[in-house]
Amino acid sequence: MQLHFLGTGAGMPSKERNTSALMVKLLDEIGEMWLFDCGEATQHQILHSSLKPRKVTKIFITHLHGDHIFGLPGFLSSRSFQGGDEPLTIFGPAGLQQWVEQTFTLSKTHLTYPLQFVEVQEGVIYEDAHFTVRAGELRHVVPCFGYRIEQKDLPGELLMEKVQALGVPKGPLLGQFKKGNDVELENGTIIKATDVVASPKKGFTLTILGDTKYCEEAVLLAEHADIVIHEATFDGDTVGLAANYGHSTNVEAAMVASRANVKFLLLNHLSARFLPHDLPIFLAQAQEIFPQTVLTSDQMVFTWSNDELL
Ligand SMILES: [Zn+2]
Ligand SMILES: [Zn+2]
Repeated sequence: MQLHFLGTGAGMPSKERNTSALMVKLLDEIGEMWLFDCGEATQHQILHSSLKPRKVTKIFITHLHGDHIFGLPGFLSSRSFQGGDEPLTIFGPAGLQQWVEQTFTLSKTHLTYPLQFVEVQEGVIYEDAHFTVRAGELRHVVPCFGYRIEQKDLPGELLMEKVQALGVPKGPLLGQFKKGNDVELENGTIIKATDVVASPKKGFTLTILGDTKYCEEAVLLAEHADIVIHEATFDGDTVGLAANYGHSTNVEAAMVASRANVKFLLLNHLSARFLPHDLPIFLAQAQEIFPQTVLTSDQMVFTWSNDELL
């Protein structure tokens, strides 16, 4: 799994940071990419990367503020031009479907692929053989959701040395072990699947929060996650503003990560008020509360591999 940050700014684009968008690359897992929020010019950010819009099968929108959705009609439309014919599903709050469809009707935009909308409510909003996605409502000035993506446990590997040592012939019997079935050899020996298959590998949990002030709901969504992505629009000097505008500070985000016992905290949605030379202090303030904090910037890519964030 890879995280490609396309926009890490707050409110409006700046020269340093575009508005919100994050690509979650699940190419090794399921051959798909999922996009979280789609601020204005997200497709321009994609042009500066190797990401392929036709690989995006799902878009999750946290809330209807412009800095999270104004890039959506353009992205959807260009996906048609780029030969996208795979269906696409958009998950988001009530009103999103109406906004997109109205925009397409008035601009006479026609897509070459089926587009489906799912109106998000709290609880499980998507599940397949590999992933469960849960939504929880946060505390912002408009309805806003956070998403918790849980990868299901991966089947354990077949331990070939053990299989060979026990004299199991190559062929269909090996497939039986992978299904969890015990196998009887021609000489009558019974070999248990549990003896030749490693224990299942735990899947990852990734929590992506939308705009929010400090709240219990964020802690719940992030509980024991491997990675939580939390907004940090303000800092300790502007804590009053944060609460008034439904946002969090760097320190509040770190408190959520610490209380939820997550492994890594990635901060995004930074206000343009913070200039590059402010960022080391901004980061240090969060790390005082939660040491495994990382500041994101546009076009930053992280790889999750063997329980490590690279
Ligand atoms: Zn925002
Ligand atoms: Zn917002």
